[in-house]
Amino acid sequence: RAINFSPGPAKIPDEVLHIVQEELLNYHGQGLGVMEMSHRSKEFEEIILGAEKSVRDLLNVPENYKVLFLQGGGAGQFAAVPLNLMHTGSADYLVTGSWSQSAVKEAEKYGKVNWVAPKSDKFVSIPDASTWKHSPDASYFYHCSNETVHGVEFPETPSVPNNTPVVADISSNFMSRKLDVSKYGLLFGGAQKNVGGAGVTAVIVRDDLLGKSRKECPSVIDYKVQSANSSLYNTPPCFNIYVMGLCLNWIQKHGGLDAMEDLSRQKSSLIYDVIDRSNGFYSAPVDRRYRSRMNIPFRVGTGADQERVEKEFLHEAQKLRMVSLKGHRSVGGMRASLYNAVTVEETRMLADFMEEFRDRSLD
Ligand code: PLP
Repeated sequence: RAINFSPGPAKIPDEVLHIVQEELLNYHGQGLGVMEMSHRSKEFEEIILGAEKSVRDLLNVPENYKVLFLQGGGAGQFAAVPLNLMHTGSADYLVTGSWSQSAVKEAEKYGKVNWVAPKSDKFVSIPDASTWKHSPDASYFYHCSNETVHGVEFPETPSVPNNTPVVADISSNFMSRKLDVSKYGLLFGGAQKNVGGAGVTAVIVRDDLLGKSRKECPSVIDYKVQSANSSLYNTPPCFNIYVMGLCLNWIQKHGGLDAMEDLSRQKSSLIYDVIDRSNGFYSAPVDRRYRSRMNIPFRVGTGADQERVEKEFLHEAQKLRMVSLKGHRSVGGMRASLYNAVTVEETRMLADFMEEFRDRSLD
């Protein structure tokens, strides 16, 4: 297996993939696989209810929240959120990177977006909360808990006045730490980073926010319709829900979210420490207070030689079977993504390689 630092779709634990492989043609003696099974079958009902129970147990989801499994990805939720929740005609958006910016673009199709902080295209920090400008009639306050491209992560839930429901895109730090669901109106996250393959998005939504959708909201992304149908209004992404359920079981078996958080801190510290100790050979642009545990963008070398050095870095890493380290095209440089399935040992190999590459380059 390659050592996979992909930002997503990302590594899935070997233990999970072995189960998938074993059950691919014959799930629990049924003589058929999950991909071939009716979504109305008893077997699939157990799979989807099991996945829901794991989400509820891991995140301690209160009773007055629904857990839905939807299609359309995180980007689908950029539209679903305003279509379902923007009943006052406006909402507050705090933009801290390209993903929250994309969410604004989509929301603007359906109502008025109030920028909580001034526009900026340098996404390396989170504007100070004392400067945020909230609007009194906002239907909700939206933010992206971890900006996958820019590597900016909220250390905690932002506090918002007037009991405005807090909406969070947790696509890239979902199930990587505990969070207090009761502080949120809605959370959504795709599976393809920390909990499985692309194709299913988990939505956790407070009951009182259901039933406020606009009349043109498509039924497949209408939270009330989907919750009334236990996410089976249409054929769900059965196989992806199954894989997600296995990944959630894997997390439970390996110490739950306390362990995932602890490991993510160990792994990200290994890389940030190499960067910080490199005397400027490596540089990470993000404000230290908001450095992501999941995605670490960094540059290699400086000045006119940087492009060549970065190419060589990628080439050398590839020779060691370390893949998907190239940064997003809008940011450049490198990005190491350290989701749940990436091990401390794999991360240490990257850290060692980085130190060795630096020493070699400075010789
Ligand atoms: N939000 C975040 C934070 C993401 O990282 C991504 C994708 O990487 C998305 C939303 C969009 O997800 P999708 O491509 O599944 O629509």
